[in-house]
Amino acid sequence: MSKVLVLNASYEPLNITNWRRAVVLLIKGKAEQVEHNGKYVYPEFPIPTVIRLRHYIRVPYKEIPLTRRNILYRDGNSCQYCGYTGDELTLDHVMPRSRHGSDSWENIVTACVRCNIKKGNRTPKEANMILRHQPRKPYSSLHFEVAKYVNGGSHQEWQKYVIGI
Ligand SMILES: [Zn+2]
Repeated sequence: MSKVLVLNASYEPLNITNWRRAVVLLIKGKAEQVEHNGKYVYPEFPIPTVIRLRHYIRVPYKEIPLTRRNILYRDGNSCQYCGYTGDELTLDHVMPRSRHGSDSWENIVTACVRCNIKKGNRTPKEANMILRHQPRKPYSSLHFEVAKYVNGGSHQEWQKYVIGI
């Protein structure tokens, strides 16, 4: 069923909820409707797709775990050197581990087996292999979630509320 992007009073994205909870927040006057999908739950009450809280709430920053799955996801499941998408993806240390390259968002990218072998123990520059995107840490776990929906073809209207998707 339809999901709803919840914005803080400051318009920063806060979380994703289901439309029923969003409707409750609207009815209780705790949030206002920003976007809706044109479908109606009750007469004159369209299903929201973006709502905004009336009062600002503070949220602690949540770390995104550095896992293989999350790195593949950040990189759109594609080799960051040749663009290959498929099953045979590996993780490559941009600065090789043998040369004290760190395990970090900035130093690990998705690479296909071929590129990983070709690059070997070299930096991209030494191997003359250009990275398609400079690897970086994702903004937030919510960012990650929102990108999943937007890139998956649903909730395009969320895009303008989230930077960098
Ligand atoms: Zn490749």
